[in-house]
Amino acid sequence: MSRERYGIIVCPDCQNARSVDLTNKTTRCNYCGNRMKIKKMNVYYQTNSQKEAAWAVGRLNEKLKGKEEPIKEKKESSDPYYKAAKESSKGDNQREKLLILARILTDELGQFNKEDLEKVAEKSDLGDVDTIIKNIRKIDDIYEPEHEVFKSI
Ligand SMILES: [Zn+2]
Repeated sequence: MSRERYGIIVCPDCQNARSVDLTNKTTRCNYCGNRMKIKKMNVYYQTNSQKEAAWAVGRLNEKLKGKEEPIKEKKESSDPYYKAAKESSKGDNQREKLLILARILTDELGQFNKEDLEKVAEKSDLGDVDTIIKNIRKIDDIYEPEHEVFKSI
């Protein structure tokens, strides 16, 4: 079975449904600007017709309005890695992003290591985990009590 062209996804941040071109890798939410990796999103509906996609978005938004947010999204918003990736994207530059990331992970986990950073790297646009570690080591406000274990001051 071939994949349809358009998919309907729901933004985990603002719970608005939208249609995306499934041949794209990422998309940005029209409502809140959240950047999403299409591959990782739950696709609620698929179609090759743009009209049908628009109709499906309307239907899903109606349904979502009257309902609680999907369970999956709830779990994601309480996930420290998801939260760190999401919040860090609000930083103006790489340093600010990493500071936000480190502060959240320290708040949630006490300290964090390479494995934790890998989980955030998957969800963010900060580069791979080695790049993140390299950049974190340049920041004075984040220290490394043990090898590849970090803590925000
Ligand atoms: Zn959104």
